[in-house]
Amino acid sequence: TTRTRFAPSPTGFLHVGGARTALFCWLQARHEQGDFVLRIEDTDLERSTPESVQAILDGMEWLELDHDEGPFYQTRRFDRYAEVVEQLLAEGKAYHCWCSKERIDALREEQMKQGVKPRYDGHCRDGGEPVAGVKPVVRFRNPREGHVRFDDRVRGTIVISNDELDDLVIARPDGSPTYNFTVVVDDWDMKISLVIRGDDHINNTPRQINIYEALGATPPQFAHVPMILGDDGARLSKRHGAVSVMQYRDQGYLPHALNNYLVRLGWSHGDQEVFTRDEMVELFSIDAVNRKAAAFDHEKLNWLNQHWMKTLPPADVAPHLAWQFNDLGIDTDNGPSLEDVVSVQAERVKTLREMAEQSRVFFEDFDAFDAGAAKKHLRPVAETPLRAIREALRDLGDWSPAALDDTVRAVAAELEVGMGKVAQPLRVALAGSGVSPSIDKTLWLVGQDRALARISHALE
Ligand code: GLU
Repeated sequence: TTRTRFAPSPTGFLHVGGARTALFCWLQARHEQGDFVLRIEDTDLERSTPESVQAILDGMEWLELDHDEGPFYQTRRFDRYAEVVEQLLAEGKAYHCWCSKERIDALREEQMKQGVKPRYDGHCRDGGEPVAGVKPVVRFRNPREGHVRFDDRVRGTIVISNDELDDLVIARPDGSPTYNFTVVVDDWDMKISLVIRGDDHINNTPRQINIYEALGATPPQFAHVPMILGDDGARLSKRHGAVSVMQYRDQGYLPHALNNYLVRLGWSHGDQEVFTRDEMVELFSIDAVNRKAAAFDHEKLNWLNQHWMKTLPPADVAPHLAWQFNDLGIDTDNGPSLEDVVSVQAERVKTLREMAEQSRVFFEDFDAFDAGAAKKHLRPVAETPLRAIREALRDLGDWSPAALDDTVRAVAAELEVGMGKVAQPLRVALAGSGVSPSIDKTLWLVGQDRALARISHALE
């Protein structure tokens, strides 16, 4: 069965590029009814932090990319790595190297001068000399002949000659293992069948394949996905806008909108742009991912966010809106249901943040009328219509948008004025400003008690 994994290094937040990799891994596993494994690559003790681990877990949870196994932590597997290092040493597939930093630096300098790619020259490969007081590193004995070939599921066939690879350090003097080694031991132990990762790792892959072979293990398949660019063609970074997944939550994007957006960065299915979660699972294939880098487009993300706010069942949107209200310190216990707020407001805003900000008046009284709106619509012009509508609303038994619309129309007809002459003052009375949803929906969400109190307040 297919087994994929997402293997982030916890040295920061969950970046949208990482999130897209995680999404591709998750989708491929779900599509093939396989397993998705989460592994935290925290061997860099100086740069890894518990906060970052938590940020990654939170980001994955928010995007609803659930894993079947893990999270596994590399720092809890040091004994296992040490065991495999010993095995490779015992079999002569790795060796100790005592070369000093000075020697390696001088070698590099000389090679650069000659215009060749810096690489270890194999000085200790056939028996290095122990240096008193110096702890050796362990190097992998990379084959000198032949080549490494693999069929990348995004990039196609890749062939690298072994004479381009040098003998990689797999354990540092303190015994701690290095990335290219731990990743192989882990993917092997965790029976990963398909490695999906950023193409910044593509140069590591031939080295890793040689380590698999030395271990007598079958390498997994690989799919290296291109990076995400900013609108100027440079690698996506902070100067292009938000890059952390949680910033998108904070700004009021739906996780499904971000997933739908990210899946299309590099993958396509005809010219379809909008995918439900089930459609993504059904249609996604890593083999259809484009090898060219895609650029992040905030406009399109906004469009998808609005689409999904309008299209998802309000009950699915409501919890995310609740998060925004909470973040803004707005107590929603006393007021309309959040589903109703979503159903009215989704058309009118681009983000859940705006939706919450513009819905404050349904839960909290406002401090003051917008001066311009009050001057134009309230006193003295509105005295008569506001009294009339208050009368009509006081005993209204059916507080539904349809009945409310009828009521406002009936009052306008009775006063022989246009609907706006009733609706605009009423809007300012209810919302404090001239901006709110249609008057029937505004009344509906404000509720009867609050509506009557606010009209009276406006008449004071
Ligand atoms: N930990 C590596 C990173 O975050 C990923 C390694 C991999 O996917 O093989 O870049």
